[in-house]
Amino acid sequence: MNRVFACRACGRGNLELILDLGKQPWGNDFRPMELDQTCPRYPLEFFYCHDCTMCQIGHTVPKETMFREHGYLSGTTRSLARHFASVASRIAERVAFGPSDYVLDVGGNDGTFLRFVHERGLDVLNVDAGINQHRASLANGIPCINRFFNLETADDIRRERGPAKVIHGAGIFFHLEELHSAFEGVRHLLADDGVVVAEFIYLPSMVETTAFDQIYHEHLTYYTLGSFERLLQGHGLRINDAELASIHGGSCIAYIGRGDGVSPALARLMDREVVEGYDTATPYRQFAKEASELRDLIRDRVRRFRAGGRRIQALGAPVKGTTILHYCGFDERDIECAVEINRLKCGTFYPGTRIPVVHQDEVDPPDAYLLLAWNFRDEIMPKLERFRSGGGQVLIPIPDAEVL
Ligand SMILES: [Zn+2]
Repeated sequence: MNRVFACRACGRGNLELILDLGKQPWGNDFRPMELDQTCPRYPLEFFYCHDCTMCQIGHTVPKETMFREHGYLSGTTRSLARHFASVASRIAERVAFGPSDYVLDVGGNDGTFLRFVHERGLDVLNVDAGINQHRASLANGIPCINRFFNLETADDIRRERGPAKVIHGAGIFFHLEELHSAFEGVRHLLADDGVVVAEFIYLPSMVETTAFDQIYHEHLTYYTLGSFERLLQGHGLRINDAELASIHGGSCIAYIGRGDGVSPALARLMDREVVEGYDTATPYRQFAKEASELRDLIRDRVRRFRAGGRRIQALGAPVKGTTILHYCGFDERDIECAVEINRLKCGTFYPGTRIPVVHQDEVDPPDAYLLLAWNFRDEIMPKLERFRSGGGQVLIPIPDAEVL
């Protein structure tokens, strides 16, 4: 079925509905238990643009709703901190910094990434619209502007600080409601020889792992290197190099500048996208089919556990878990609670459900965990050795509903 609304990237309207995940609340709408729990629901539909190949969702939840009072703090995840440390060291190797140069982080959250940059003696600046993130960044000693990043913000920064040598954004460039204004801002603010370091969930990895839970309202666009390059070219920018990283279940780090050099690694990745058909609707249609099969399998595994009288808790309460819970139709009869270590989320309900989020130390372990934060399985599984040797099981929903 084709829809007539404008593609976020090219502005044309040749969009194909690939996967309909139903009406869902905004995935981070974790509300304290004493508050009204009737979260608004919005369509969660994944589209492919036949004109520019950009994948995207159709409905926009306003950015003020999603990012002002956000509960996610980067610093709570150790493997993310390690990842940022290594990105900071690669940037330091690539870029020759002068004395007045600085590194700008767009949506830099609590300053976790910029702390590693700052430790190298470089000037840093964070821009984050989140109230909690702004506060946490300042507490971490990282200067922060509490605004959304767009052309106007970029212009103010440029007038105050001059051009930015590096503009980094991790998991932010696919959040942009003001997509074109933000990239115009990047073009305006970037030094002539500057580098944009964009980290994003790599769409081919998401498709290969059937990670349908990466689709949620905060993720407005979903990039291949090809679709991202087309978007950037419209703003005078080019991808010059790229590498894949395992963080978030399969990410890409793209190095972007004003020049048109193409590294061999980037050429290989872009060739592979074409060979595998990511500039056509075919792999996305296959992804949609596999997502619905995986949904049935996860549901079947959970319901079998429950039929045997076993207790299941969700391990972690990531935003992507909202997509899994709603797409699978789970409620508190299936999942008794979600356990977390991030205290900002404890004492809430999973959005649109009566599944409470509680601190891990405050409940007895269940018979089985549903690992919603599956992308951090390497960090989490070693901590569950004792649980498993005592007979506990772990259901890892993505990529194949494996039970360990
Ligand atoms: Zn398009």
